[in-house]
Amino acid sequence: MYRTRLRMITLDRHASGRHFLQIPGPTNVPDRVLRAIDQPTIDHRGPEFAVLTKSVLAGMKRVFKTQGDVVIYPASGTGAWEAALVNTLSPGDHVLMAETGHFATLWKRLAERVGLVVKFLPGDWRHGANAAAIEAELAADKERAIKAVCVVHNETSTGVVTDVPAVCNAIDRAAHPALYMVDTISSLASIDYRHDEWRVDVTVGGSQKGLMLPPGLSFNAISAKALAASRSAKLPRSYWDWNDMLAINATGYFPYTPATNLLYGLHEALEMLFAEGLNAVFARHARLAEATRRAVRGWGLDILCADPAEYSASLTAIVMPDGHNADALRKVILDRYDLSLGQGLGKMSGRIFRIGHLGWFNELMLCGTLCGVEMGLAQCEVPHKKNGVREALEFLMRGE
Ligand SMILES: *Cc1c(COP(=O)(O)O)cnc(C)c1O
Repeated sequence: MYRTRLRMITLDRHASGRHFLQIPGPTNVPDRVLRAIDQPTIDHRGPEFAVLTKSVLAGMKRVFKTQGDVVIYPASGTGAWEAALVNTLSPGDHVLMAETGHFATLWKRLAERVGLVVKFLPGDWRHGANAAAIEAELAADKERAIKAVCVVHNETSTGVVTDVPAVCNAIDRAAHPALYMVDTISSLASIDYRHDEWRVDVTVGGSQKGLMLPPGLSFNAISAKALAASRSAKLPRSYWDWNDMLAINATGYFPYTPATNLLYGLHEALEMLFAEGLNAVFARHARLAEATRRAVRGWGLDILCADPAEYSASLTAIVMPDGHNADALRKVILDRYDLSLGQGLGKMSGRIFRIGHLGWFNELMLCGTLCGVEMGLAQCEVPHKKNGVREALEFLMRGE
């Protein structure tokens, strides 16, 4: 019974050809990665396993651009958010966060639930975190009550990037001892990121976006300062504890059963990223993002991100004209063209749709995506100009 239903869903929706999964995560998983995952599960305490562990940890350090420690959890990104906080902070500690959008709001709620006191700098969901406002808060904190500053690098709900080094400089100028934590779940391996150089203490990552894997793995990159803080941090933790994890990772193993087959996939995805070259990966994302924005302007629609310096290379959020619902448009596009677009989250629900252009993606996949959107706009009678696809093609053809 159950089986029959599942078959009907998948057969209806994926009747012929590829489904276009253009939400900003989970992203399209490359065939190579799917094949790597489709191998027999091995003994996670056996001799081969240590080789795999050491290799993926070294690879992830290259991706985070850190010489420090990296841990891998069998968890979604939310788990790694929690791990960052509970390993370094104590009950009642004050944390400074910035309201860049839905994901920043969820991280704030998690922080409150684990017993932290959050100062949430308000935002309009069209800008990144404001480094000057963070500096002012830190400068005013004479008692040094704030123990951590947390920002989202690429706010996936809005398509806006926060200037991570600018926030680090703000912390420096205030000469404040707070830890610096950054969520890179939808920027890692899509937008340049440098854990050590930008002096971040804890970076949070996830598997299902730029890393081209299914959901199920998440990461913390940890500075020496964060590791030192973990020795005196008093928030309760067990599953997330870095020290247990790091002690046994050093031998090539995990304190509990890791997600063996996802680690095969991670190994393959890292090989693909390093073969293309991280800089080439970032340039590809920037280019496809630029083509997408040209299409949006060609349609005469608005990009949610208000400042071109903060445009995301991972996704573009597009504002619907007044009186038109983004979810009605997305439904028609999914039903007709088997193309999934990102919905508006939180207070953007129905007002925007998001095109994910991150991960395993290329020019013709983008062209197909933009064609689906342009046809959907016409079918839903959303007021627009018919120049979007053409503008994108002109840009891509020039090969800039
Ligand atoms: C996807 C995402 C998350 C949430 O990760 P889950 O894997 O859904 O727990 C958090 N932050 C950002 C920026 C994201 O893009």
